[in-house]
Amino acid sequence: MESVLKELISFRGSAEPGVAYGIKMVQAAKDFLKIRDLKKADLYVIAETSRCLPDAIEFLTGCTVGNGRLLIKDYSKMAASFIDLGTKRAVRVMIIPEFQRKDVAHSKRSVSLRQRRKFGEITTHHARHALEILKIPSKELLRVQKIKLTEPVPPMRPPTKIVFCEKCGESIREEKARVRDGEILCLVCAGEEKPYFKPKYL
Ligand SMILES: [Zn+2]
Repeated sequence: MESVLKELISFRGSAEPGVAYGIKMVQAAKDFLKIRDLKKADLYVIAETSRCLPDAIEFLTGCTVGNGRLLIKDYSKMAASFIDLGTKRAVRVMIIPEFQRKDVAHSKRSVSLRQRRKFGEITTHHARHALEILKIPSKELLRVQKIKLTEPVPPMRPPTKIVFCEKCGESIREEKARVRDGEILCLVCAGEEKPYFKPKYL
């Protein structure tokens, strides 16, 4: 597990305890669902936070946001559900709150280090902490619960048609297009999304 942690840290560029939580959670789901090879399984995952945990899930299971097998519902909870579409078995794995309460002390320490701007020390502190988490027996760290989804799993590759926005001219998937006064527009040109950038002229 330590070598997996090292690879994962190099994949995402930093060590955070959440990554170690993620490794433990994926392992627990794999055991519960009796999956031999995660990357060959017909797996779908819902992560309940956008921080740290999705990196571990993508890296270890091959379920990614890009291939449609990872959905992020950002409740900021250290929890995830793993659904084996082959066997229809599903499990939600979360960190036991009592454990996380104790673990907050570690975060407090890294915050105080950050205030003193000891960045090297923060990195070592986080890496050490992540290693400690890996060594904790799963039953002390995780709650694993069998679940049934209340909403359908979206199709992995939805049938799609490409259309072009009549204002900016850029291509979009048909389901993301809007019709305003008979014109096909992208979400930004239709005013449904605020542009996150503006062009900079030299
Ligand atoms: Zn447009």
